[in-house]
Amino acid sequence: MALSGIEIFKLLPKTNCKKCGFPTCLAFAMKLAQGGVEISACPDVSEEAKKNLGEASAPAIRTFSLGAGDNAVKMGGEGVLFRHDKKFYNPCALALNIKDSLSGDEIAAKASEVNSSEMDRVGQKLRIDAISIEYASNDPAKYEAAVKLAAEKAPGAALILNCGDPAAAGAAAKVVAGRKPLLYCATEANADAMAAIAKENGLPLAIKADGLEALSALSEKVQKLGVENIVLDSGAKSAKEILENNTQIRRSALKKKFKPLGYPIINFASRGDSMLETSIAAVAIAKYASIVVMNHIEQWKNLALFTLRQNIYTDPQVPMQVKQNIYEISGPSADSPLMITTNFSLTYFIVSGEIENSKVPSWLAVMDCEGLSVLTAWAAGKFIASKIAAFIQESGVGDKVSKKELIIPGQVAILSGALEDKLEGWKITVGPREANALPTYLKSR
Ligand code: SF4
Repeated sequence: MALSGIEIFKLLPKTNCKKCGFPTCLAFAMKLAQGGVEISACPDVSEEAKKNLGEASAPAIRTFSLGAGDNAVKMGGEGVLFRHDKKFYNPCALALNIKDSLSGDEIAAKASEVNSSEMDRVGQKLRIDAISIEYASNDPAKYEAAVKLAAEKAPGAALILNCGDPAAAGAAAKVVAGRKPLLYCATEANADAMAAIAKENGLPLAIKADGLEALSALSEKVQKLGVENIVLDSGAKSAKEILENNTQIRRSALKKKFKPLGYPIINFASRGDSMLETSIAAVAIAKYASIVVMNHIEQWKNLALFTLRQNIYTDPQVPMQVKQNIYEISGPSADSPLMITTNFSLTYFIVSGEIENSKVPSWLAVMDCEGLSVLTAWAAGKFIASKIAAFIQESGVGDKVSKKELIIPGQVAILSGALEDKLEGWKITVGPREANALPTYLKSR
């Protein structure tokens, strides 16, 4: 039975050492009770407490990774049905399906597309995360060669061995076992053999059955066979089925603590028509998929799906932020102008974009204001003269510029006098109110 936060707290070391990333043991216990963190995040918890917490502290949806290394994608671990209840933690992986019946050149080209899919959006690197290699040839040797080729051409991508033939899947699994591929998939017919391959190679195993009742039964069977990391495929194909089944799975796991369905979900959005595929993938991303597999990836589609995924998995309680820093734009020198703004991502990207447009090499001081925009940060007392002065002095930017002049946003012109008092030896200049006036302003100086 699940333990309350207080019950968990009693079992923790109570040193408030913060090693878990939480300010107190109580805060950590509360998060653990919601399933938003794992007990392993506390390095000092005793073995006895770990045992006592055991099942009770495990997240309702099991957490593990797809793939290995820096680009491994963490799945599961979600604790709420709706993002506004708290937040969603682990963005779903997007995967491209490649048939092994294609020529070597075609497989290599598609895998390379995945490899070069990364784009930068609001300071985050977004990419197609995985390749699913489909056993379409019915030839185990061809399948193994295709898996090897795709793995070589996309070294950063996670792999899904989309092959229900245990002999072919087992041989391919051995070749790429170090990449920790997902084995897809066990059905009622091949569950014993696929579970044996998963166990032997330490891989997660996807299971597929038509309908949630059959899926639950298969999940229990595979667990009993010793597989810990399971991914669920309810057989949903249409957007309606994906929405219904994924919602029922998430509800069963969170509200009823129904263990057989407490695992990440995989959906196949794969369609011949790319626009339809995009729409179905969007439904899966919005409603609880941990992996979405598609037949095509194109830049327009990636951009739309990346944006959707990024927005759904952004913590609604924490504004998007960039790091406090002195940013160099277009290779500034000691004579270049120095401007300051706050670290709200959108503010930073708009301001830095306009400075780039001006083609005037510049310094941009970005101050940590907990992700608030300029006016909000000023109103909240986070972007005020004393704090700005302390930041500029501690940053050492004064050693980089020959003329000690700081250009502040026009919206906080009111700060100029107080700032000149606090920043001795500096000239404070009031810049434009709006970022789009920066190019003209900088060129005219
Ligand atoms: S790491 Fe453990 S002991 Fe330290 S604050 Fe977190 S829960 Fe408490």
